[in-house]
Amino acid sequence: MMNTFEQYESEVRGYCRSFPAMFTSAKGAWMIDAEGRRYLDFFCGAGVLNYGHNPDKIKQALLAYLMRDGITHSLDMYTEAKQAFIARFNDVILQPRGLRYKFQFPGPTGTNAVEAALKLARKVTGREQVVGFTNAFHGMTLGALAVTGNGFKRAGAGVPLGHTASVPFDGYLGEGTDTLDYFEALLKDEGSGMDKPAAVIVETVQAEGGVNVASVEWLQRLRRITEEHGVLLIVDDIQVGCGRTGAFFSFEEAGIVPDIVTLSKSLSGYGLPLALVLIKPELDQWAPGEHNGTFRGHNPAFVTATAALRFWQDGLLAEDVARKAGLVEKRLTDIVAKHAPGARVRGRGLIWGIEFDDTQLAARISQACFKRGLIIETAGIDDQVLKLLPSLTIAEEELRHGLDVIEAGLREALSVDNVSPAIEAAA
Ligand SMILES: *Cc1c(COP(=O)(O)O)cnc(C)c1O
Repeated sequence: MMNTFEQYESEVRGYCRSFPAMFTSAKGAWMIDAEGRRYLDFFCGAGVLNYGHNPDKIKQALLAYLMRDGITHSLDMYTEAKQAFIARFNDVILQPRGLRYKFQFPGPTGTNAVEAALKLARKVTGREQVVGFTNAFHGMTLGALAVTGNGFKRAGAGVPLGHTASVPFDGYLGEGTDTLDYFEALLKDEGSGMDKPAAVIVETVQAEGGVNVASVEWLQRLRRITEEHGVLLIVDDIQVGCGRTGAFFSFEEAGIVPDIVTLSKSLSGYGLPLALVLIKPELDQWAPGEHNGTFRGHNPAFVTATAALRFWQDGLLAEDVARKAGLVEKRLTDIVAKHAPGARVRGRGLIWGIEFDDTQLAARISQACFKRGLIIETAGIDDQVLKLLPSLTIAEEELRHGLDVIEAGLREALSVDNVSPAIEAAA
């Protein structure tokens, strides 16, 4: 049965190589394979399933909509499902935070949102250059890839990726260096060789790039610098928005207001593809139809996204994430102190990473965890970071169980290290 994939599916397939099971169903924090094995999911579709797999309240809304033959596809015509989503998102998310944005629904994936944001920033400013950061990840289409750091992925473009510049993210030059000194100097100096950019695009926590966390002060300074120089600030909240860091938007803690925000992954709350570009009203200078597409805002995804906003009608989920964050941080710090001193633990909310100097270790831990029924991925340019991305709604005992498995997986991965020279000697 696995041969179906090996025989017919392109070699480009990826995650199935790390997690070679045949999945059949899922609920909450668990995925179940064809042999009935249960896996605790600490990956959540790379941040798509913040509310867990197939949450009942959202599923009921979707089923009711389908059963009454609610419209499924409508291009970008007006529908009740879209209206309900816009109204609820305004009421529950934007207004209480004092935010005013217009909504653009691009194609349904994250990279579609990034492409739309970059195109709009260039159009509005009349400038070509967009600044991204070292180790950034913004998607696989040409515009988004041009502001993505990863050299292997960039090479896949097959054409030059241009009209961008990469500057150091927070922490890239080590503790004690504020990397924005460099960026600000480039902007101020006519001799710097950097063309004035249309926009800066940033992740507040670089997820794919290795769980690199920007500090609140760094984000605030980035906002000040971009404002002073008339450069638009795009926050790509595709992976760490929708509550991943606790608050709905990851930039709330810094108290900054981006000019453009991209959302996708957990926006539909159910794993249905949906992307959104939030645009400051004065920047909405699109001409009708200037940027279009067939699947811009899919009605079943609007229905689930609207239902998912129930999680945000009070502050309980954010509080719950903060409590679980404390638990994860403490446990990971203890595990590292005990077994891998020197490894670095970092994160915010419910995205955490452990970075190891031995770049093989994170992948070995991931494999050891998978054998024990835990799905957990690696991140960073050398896959040197073990990345935790449990659902926000995971029960505390499930979270503790997953952390136990990580400790066991780490011990196994380290013991392989210790015995391997002996095995080699014996061979
Ligand atoms: C996943 C991701 C994207 C790309 O989203 P796709 O749906 O894979 O196109 C863009 N930016 C960030 C921060 C992401 O995590």
